[in-house]
Amino acid sequence: MSPNRFKDLSYFTFHAEKPISVQCPKCKGMGIVQIKDNLAYFNCTHCHHSLIQDRTLYRYDVHNHCSNCGRYYRVDLKPNEAQNFNKLMVACPYCGTKMQGQVHKTAYCYDYRSSLKQGCDPFFNFPLWFLSSFNGKLVWALNREHLNYLIDYYEITIKTDQLQTFSE
Ligand SMILES: [Zn+2]
Ligand SMILES: [Zn+2]
Repeated sequence: MSPNRFKDLSYFTFHAEKPISVQCPKCKGMGIVQIKDNLAYFNCTHCHHSLIQDRTLYRYDVHNHCSNCGRYYRVDLKPNEAQNFNKLMVACPYCGTKMQGQVHKTAYCYDYRSSLKQGCDPFFNFPLWFLSSFNGKLVWALNREHLNYLIDYYEITIKTDQLQTFSE
């Protein structure tokens, strides 16, 4: 049995839309993070504190046709520079002429899996509720189902190890 077996099963790929159990920042009780379309919802089961967050990330750029050199170009903007403007002055990357251009806003998906590593949910950054340690290693679970899954996994590992010990 490979120690990486549960990674290979890609729990996070198939279960990305399942509820996540987290610790409520207000009362430290258990709250639930759920995703519906582009929104993430937090609801505390204990104090009923609730939050909503748009999980859509946007890219911003300006497309221009330079009035000086005649070339078409695209300039990428940082979200903090662009999000409050419809039009912005940008410099032509070929000749440096500054022109005003329409800011385009393009939605792209949130990368769910890469954001779960620090033991916090990726939308509100609250600590995961099912956080514990196993053999000195930090083990966290998204929800009870995932926890049971990990427990099963570790039990299988223990049994396999014991089996090897007995047969030696
Ligand atoms: Zn609460
Ligand atoms: Zn130009």
